[in-house]
Amino acid sequence: MSFASLGLSAPILEAVAKQGYKTPSPIQAQAIPAILEGKDVMAAAQTGTGKTAGFTLPLLEKLSGGQSARSHHIRALILTPTRELAAQVGDNVAKYSKNLPINSAVVFGGVKANPQINRLRQGADVLVATPGRLMDLHSQNAVKFRDVEILVLDEADRMLDMGFIRDIRKILALLPKQRQNLLFSATFSDDIRALAKGLVNNPVEIDV
Ligand code: AMP
Repeated sequence: MSFASLGLSAPILEAVAKQGYKTPSPIQAQAIPAILEGKDVMAAAQTGTGKTAGFTLPLLEKLSGGQSARSHHIRALILTPTRELAAQVGDNVAKYSKNLPINSAVVFGGVKANPQINRLRQGADVLVATPGRLMDLHSQNAVKFRDVEILVLDEADRMLDMGFIRDIRKILALLPKQRQNLLFSATFSDDIRALAKGLVNNPVEIDV
């Protein structure tokens, strides 16, 4: 199995080759085609499985195939529990989108908001964010959600453990109803299943 056979196009395949990845990991082999087809996905995956590329690569593929990526509004929103994970996912997005006309930004709490507000003013197609800071920025009118097509919750179980459920629910209520939802979590507890119920439609379930 190759990355090319999963339906990814040349600019993304080049970025993947540059990382030295030879074959897709099991989660990538399952998630990438499903996401490219526009399906919602619910995946049980630990760190180290290649889950980040599993959602980032098809997400970038979808955005680069659509309208020209110069709008000032966010088209893909990736929520993570911690600033470390946000930074790490943001690095992945930047790396894989190097050959694409897509720009990305990362926002998280614990640092000044102003530089993040200024960065968002320049426009970002992909935003990686922690939920609390994202709500702050939204209340300051620094982010617009109306063009969000794809939502990713990464490490959703940790987001719930850290008490982000209220922020997540607020964010969900602000997003366009018509969108693709990707839920990644190390475990599927009752709480995660309850969250998933109001979030994913007829999802492809992946367990690696
Ligand atoms: P993740 O589970 O997303 O945190 O990824 C774990 C590590 O696996 C990262 O260092 C990735 O760079 C690496 N990785 C992701 N996909 C592949 C692949 N298909 N082949 C080899 N390494 C990979």
